[in-house]
Amino acid sequence: MLPRIFQKTPSTIFLLAISLVILALSFLPSTTLLPRLRLLTSHFTLRPISTSTTTVNNTTNMASYAQELNIALLAVQRATLLTKSVFHSHAKGTLSKNDASPVTIGDFGAQALIIAALQHAFPQDAIVAEEEAKDLRENESLRDLVWDLVQNAKLADSSAEETLGGPIKSPAEMLDIIDKGDSAGGSSGRIWAIDPIDGTKGFLRGGQYAVCLGLMVDGDVKVGVLGLPNLPESDSEPLVEGIGAEQTDAAGKGVIISAVQGQGAASRPLGKGALAEGHSIQMKPLANVSDATFCESVEAGHSSQGDAADIARKLGITKPSVRMDSQAKYGSIARGAGDLYLRLPVKKDYVEKIWDHAAGDLIVREAGGEVTDVEGKRLDFGQGRTLKNNKGVIAAPKSVHAQVIEAVKSVLGSK
Ligand code: AMP
Ligand code: MG
Repeated sequence: MLPRIFQKTPSTIFLLAISLVILALSFLPSTTLLPRLRLLTSHFTLRPISTSTTTVNNTTNMASYAQELNIALLAVQRATLLTKSVFHSHAKGTLSKNDASPVTIGDFGAQALIIAALQHAFPQDAIVAEEEAKDLRENESLRDLVWDLVQNAKLADSSAEETLGGPIKSPAEMLDIIDKGDSAGGSSGRIWAIDPIDGTKGFLRGGQYAVCLGLMVDGDVKVGVLGLPNLPESDSEPLVEGIGAEQTDAAGKGVIISAVQGQGAASRPLGKGALAEGHSIQMKPLANVSDATFCESVEAGHSSQGDAADIARKLGITKPSVRMDSQAKYGSIARGAGDLYLRLPVKKDYVEKIWDHAAGDLIVREAGGEVTDVEGKRLDFGQGRTLKNNKGVIAAPKSVHAQVIEAVKSVLGSK
């Protein structure tokens, strides 16, 4: 009778087979051995996610949203680099968003790249995105322009690219991917909201724009990421008037600002490959609201600048407003470069879109702020593709938010 270990049980045969494979591999030269072992082990592990500092797997991510954050950061970084390349190759001098305008190409390209990454990592999740591929299906030369950009937008780090699922395979696949952003939204399940280029006008003039991505779970924003290529890298650089119009790409420009619910907000330089190290950000303490710097839209049609001036006067604010396009306003106050963001309805029937606010709302709240509509109600992201239960946006440090809302109500109520 042989000892049990030498009997031909299925587990002994399996162990013997593994030993033989390892023995065979050990005869290969060391340059081929490591990659082969990596390939072999990759079949046994859950998909590893590498960031610049940590390696985590799916199991630990479920509660912490670490995997969602990592994918979102890398996807936004890659898409933001695409928008920068469009600006350099096509955008300078163009002023409108027509059919084949640079912002259109950039919008489609960035949306395709972000959705491709989300689909690779989270194939079950729903997506609400601003664009659809109809125009690209009808216009071959526009499609080719976008395809060309998408093919060339790669992170300069192979493991980061791998994490995002690598390149899109064909123009046809790219169109289908773009159309995956057609979810109706709502208050149940996991839904990502994407604005591939928020702040169209800012993008065209070389000023502020943002690549925006938020994850909502049951209508609550859990993860938010903003790619801000034309904001200063330094969090402490004060907001200046020209920030909305400066030409892009000077050294020291470009940040990614992000947040996870319950874990605070962070900022990191916009990189080209793996993620740069992040650091946490907070809103600036504001003892007196009269010392505030407030931000508003450049576009007078998006936010009433007259009402904002009246509100500022009521609060004793003397500094002029800083006008900038996009969710860069949320990012700027979250890191203490400014204090308040006022978005005051111009047209009664306009409903805000969830992709214009999801990431920014979470980032400001995680940095110590309060974000509500003009009546003081929290933004409700569970109502579909729009914020149909809200009007306007008021974002401020917690300490002064109620005071700002009081001034907003008094100015808007007296009209
Ligand atoms: P901003 O850069 O802050 O001016 O906001 C840009 C966003 O404003 C765009 O992404 C549009 O979705 C949104 N928008 C368009 N029309 C209006 C409007 N009438 N009121 C408020 N926001 C609008
Ligand atoms: Mg937008």
